[in-house]
Amino acid sequence: MIFKVEIRGVVQGVGFRPFIYNLATSMELNGYVSNNAHGVIIVVDTTKDKVDEFVEQIRAKRPPLSDIESIDISPSNEKQTFKDFTIKKSESSDELTSMIPSDIAMCKECQEELEDKNNRRYNYPFITCTNCGPRYSIIKNLPYDRKNTSMAEFEMCKKCQDEYKNPKDRRYHAQPIGCFECGPMISLLDKSGKKQKIENVVDEVVKFIADGKIVAIKGVGGYHLVCDARNEKAVKLLRERKQRPSKPFAVMVKDINMSKEIVHINAKEEELLSSNRRPVVLLGKNERELLCDSVAPNINQLGLFLAYTPLHHMILQKLNCPLVATSANISGEPLCINSEEIMKLSHIWDYCLDHDREIVNSCDDSVLFVENEKIFMLRCARGYSPTYLKLPNKTDKKILSLGANQKSTVAITIENKVIISPYIADLEGLSSIEHFKSHIETLKRIYDFEPDVVVCDKHPRYESTKYAKELKEKNSHVELMQVQHHYAHILSTMGLNNITSKVLGVSFDGTGYGKEGHLWGGEFFVCDEKGYERVGHFKYFKLLGGEMAIKEPRRVALSFLFELYGEDVLTLNNHTTASFTQSELKVLYQAWKKGLNSPLSSSCGRFFDAVASILDILHVSSHEGESGLLLESLYDENIKDFYEFSILEKEIDFSVIFYQILKEEDKTIAVSKFFNTLVEIIFDMSKKHDLPVVLGGGVFQNRVLLRLIMKIIPDVTVPSGFVSNDSAIAYGQAIAAASR
Ligand SMILES: [Zn+2]
Ligand SMILES: [Zn+2]
Repeated sequence: MIFKVEIRGVVQGVGFRPFIYNLATSMELNGYVSNNAHGVIIVVDTTKDKVDEFVEQIRAKRPPLSDIESIDISPSNEKQTFKDFTIKKSESSDELTSMIPSDIAMCKECQEELEDKNNRRYNYPFITCTNCGPRYSIIKNLPYDRKNTSMAEFEMCKKCQDEYKNPKDRRYHAQPIGCFECGPMISLLDKSGKKQKIENVVDEVVKFIADGKIVAIKGVGGYHLVCDARNEKAVKLLRERKQRPSKPFAVMVKDINMSKEIVHINAKEEELLSSNRRPVVLLGKNERELLCDSVAPNINQLGLFLAYTPLHHMILQKLNCPLVATSANISGEPLCINSEEIMKLSHIWDYCLDHDREIVNSCDDSVLFVENEKIFMLRCARGYSPTYLKLPNKTDKKILSLGANQKSTVAITIENKVIISPYIADLEGLSSIEHFKSHIETLKRIYDFEPDVVVCDKHPRYESTKYAKELKEKNSHVELMQVQHHYAHILSTMGLNNITSKVLGVSFDGTGYGKEGHLWGGEFFVCDEKGYERVGHFKYFKLLGGEMAIKEPRRVALSFLFELYGEDVLTLNNHTTASFTQSELKVLYQAWKKGLNSPLSSSCGRFFDAVASILDILHVSSHEGESGLLLESLYDENIKDFYEFSILEKEIDFSVIFYQILKEEDKTIAVSKFFNTLVEIIFDMSKKHDLPVVLGGGVFQNRVLLRLIMKIIPDVTVPSGFVSNDSAIAYGQAIAAASR
């Protein structure tokens, strides 16, 4: 009997057809395999038992880069007889819903060849095969063929071609392959951009790093700035030149053994760290002092990742030390992806290890952590992008979601699939906005997509909102929809967990646009995908200086002091008041009293700031989320008490809690009780509303808070598997637009 086997998921451009060919041949099945619009289609002439066994084998042995969504077996109406098994050319060029694979770290086989003196790719920095290497970062168009990638300009030599054409070879149809003869090459630039004439670039770079120099290295989705992580002078210099005083740096190491010298790793974390996606994983530092203090000052965690390209591998093997590896960009701005852009940062690096394979789509390193065996993402990019998430129900509308303003991502929705761009940047500078637009164009081009609905945030001054309105003006048939920021956060977590029923959404976040110009961020919603009711929130406080308060925790603390003591604050002496001059205090008091440039806010993220300032932990922050990270490091799990709080008329008053913290003498006790109090508040609200509890928003990047809530409400739904910060907004918006 002739059967048709249809497979959907990430099954194109990942070596699926040769895998099927080899499997079918080994099982002596006759028929063919080909790609179609939705995935892979196989036709075999055999018995029902045999086809079942075949499918079982497919599931068990699938290529490492593939991801099977579904396999359907049905009788085929083909009449022909087959004498053998063949790979047929694609049925159609319409690959609308086929999925682009992510960029994947070098595989074991390639590493062995890289280190094998007798292999023709010995020490070739771009060695790759069907199971590893760049994908998303080099693709210009679908279908994923070499001619549609930035490898098109490298014409394969005879030897590479033979491998590419042989279905039995492990490089069969591997689009990015090359060798010394035909593929991309590395080069070394000095600060003036001049190519250095030297024999062995890698050896030279290793020498520079060992000497304490800062080197820019072009990787898969962008450049890194690297230096020796043990060398205090070099790391300090990098901080100075990059104007990044305290934000922790990520560290790249050669292998898992070296990681264990630096951090504590449990089994789940080890699995993640050495997976073929090779993300940065946040891990607890251990006591041994292998790194210098400036790498991640004042916090007990470290972002660590393993070498993931052949080039990184070669450098780290020779250096044999941990490397600071931070994205080459200006803080908050997009990554540098070509020589022209990296030259703009030549005041930071001493040398640049460049290469000539074009990066088409920029893609930063992904950042994750494990809590309670669950994976949480802080940044979703290389190895995970583009991300394909599902809608609970199919939609017949084509939806473009433009996300928020910080940690921007964009998404397109087709049927029940939401395709999300990697993390782009904060939409502040011109170049960020350019990148934002180019990511939209890339998705539109690759998926041949024109939106019926454009959905954005409610904040009138977000660049994404402005752009949505521009699009609407240009295309009057396009429907424009705006979704409240914190509701979108909850929808995102609901979508990740396929929840459509009514829930109690807890949205703790930085600041987002609420109603009447108020900045929300500490919200309790009773909601489903159709709409929300705000059933609780933190009592509004005045955000002194508006946007400026986001960068200055001391302004938020001062606002609470004014609320508690009025003008008497001018004569108070505490850590917060001491960080201002007397005249500043006077001006700010007037501003607070009259409400000048002081929007009302209920933000929980900002309350973290206030706590950090009054405890003398942080008064002016240099990066987003800094106060949360510092407070986390002070938490003591042996302290079980919490502060008194009340929920009056759906409002929880922060100043009541703030007052108690103010009276506390011990920092650790204050911080621990503060965390416990937030958890108690959520627990209290969950008892009032007998509904499943769903968490969303940037505050839930805080692992102490997550850990405590998962303990007290074991069936709480958490934003695991994807990000919970503003990069999740585009997904939440898509769900709102699809269900309307
Ligand atoms: Zn490989
Ligand atoms: Zn070649």
